[in-house]
Amino acid sequence: ITPEAASEIKTQDIDPTQLVLNRTSKPKPLLKSEDLIFGRNFTDHMLTIEWDKTTGWAKPHIVPYQNLSLDPATCVFHYAFECFEGMKAYKDSAGQIRLFRPDKNMERFNKSAARIALPNFNSTALIDLIAQFTKLESRFIPEERGYSLYLRPTLIGTQKTLGVGPPGSALLFVIASPVGPYYPTGFKAVSLEATDYAVRAWPGGVGDKKLGANYAPCIVPQREAMSRGFQQNLWLFGEEEYVTEVGTMNFFVALVNKQTGQKELITAPLDGTILEGVTRDSVLSLARERLEPEGWEVVERKYTMRELDEAASEGRLIEAFGAGTAAIVSPVRAISWRGKLVSCGLKEHEETGEVTMKMKNWIEARQYGDDKHEWSYVC
Ligand code: PMP
Repeated sequence: ITPEAASEIKTQDIDPTQLVLNRTSKPKPLLKSEDLIFGRNFTDHMLTIEWDKTTGWAKPHIVPYQNLSLDPATCVFHYAFECFEGMKAYKDSAGQIRLFRPDKNMERFNKSAARIALPNFNSTALIDLIAQFTKLESRFIPEERGYSLYLRPTLIGTQKTLGVGPPGSALLFVIASPVGPYYPTGFKAVSLEATDYAVRAWPGGVGDKKLGANYAPCIVPQREAMSRGFQQNLWLFGEEEYVTEVGTMNFFVALVNKQTGQKELITAPLDGTILEGVTRDSVLSLARERLEPEGWEVVERKYTMRELDEAASEGRLIEAFGAGTAAIVSPVRAISWRGKLVSCGLKEHEETGEVTMKMKNWIEARQYGDDKHEWSYVC
C-alpha cells in the first residue's frame, strides 16, 4: 500500500450526523411567484463542507447565505478547479419535499470531481444533507405546479498556490434558488443554429463532465446564434456533422426510419461527447416503458445533420426536443444548417409535438410525486 493510499483510508468521509446548524437571524422576504427569475434569488442559508487532504471531509455546516472569502492565489481562480450539479426539489400535494433522482446527480458530481483531481465523497451522505438543507428552506418552494427549488451543489479547489497540481484543500457548497415554470404560458418551440465552427466536446475531452470550464467557452457561439435569431446552438461534431446536444440540454428526435418504416426516438450515445443528462436517462427509460409498447423503437446511436435534413425533406421527421433539468423538455421548431432551415415536424400553429408533451407530463408526475416512483426521494 502506498503512503498516499494509506492516508486516503484514514481520512474522514462526509458525515451528516455531525451537521452544525447556524440559522439566519434575518430571514429574507419571499418574492411573488411571478417575480422569480432563474438563478437570481437565493434562500436564507447555504450548506458548506470543507475538505483537506490529510484529514478528509470536515463537519458539514448550514450557515446564513453569505460571500466566500478566498485568497487571490486560490487555484479555482487560475486553473478552473470547479465542478457543479443542477437538480431540483419539488413540493408535493401533501406539502412534502421531494428530490428527483439525486443519486444520479451525485454519481455525476463524483465523476466530474475525480476528473479534475477534486475529492470524492459518499453520495448517500451528501443526499441526506441536501435533504436536510432543502427541508430547512421549505418556505421558499412555491406549492404551484411548475415551481421548484433549483439546487446548485458546487465543488471548488481552495489551495492557495499558483503551482499546478492536485488541490490539497477543497470546499463543497450547496446554494438554492426558487424557480418558476420554464414556459409559464405553455410550451414555446425554439429554433436552433447547427454549430460547426465551434466544438463543445470531443472524444477524450471533458465535455461529458459538468465542469464550469465547459460552459464559459459556449457563451460566444450562443450569443452569435442569438444575434441571428436562434435561441440555442445545436452542437455538431466532426466532418460527418454528428448531432450531439443542444445548448445545455440533450437532444432527441422522433422520425420514421427510411429503410424499415419504423418510428424511432433517437438520441446520441454516451460516447464522451455529450453530458450524461439525468433527464435524458429519464426520457429513455419512460420511452422504453411506455412508447415501445405503442410501436416505437428507442435508439441511442450516432446520427448526422444530413440524416435529419433528409428525414425532414421526405416528411419523416416527426418532432425534436431538448431534455434537461431546467425545462424538462423543450420543443424544437427548426434548425438552421448550411444556410437553410430544416423544419422539425411542427405545423405552424403548433408549439409542441405529442411525444414531447407526453414526456413532460410523465416526468413531472414523478417529480411532484403524483406518480409514486423510486425516482422521487422524499426528504
Ligand atoms: N447537457 C449539458 C451540456 C448540460 O449542461 C445539461 C444540464 N445539466 C444537460 C445536458 C442536461 O442534463 P440534466 O438532464 O441532468 O439536467
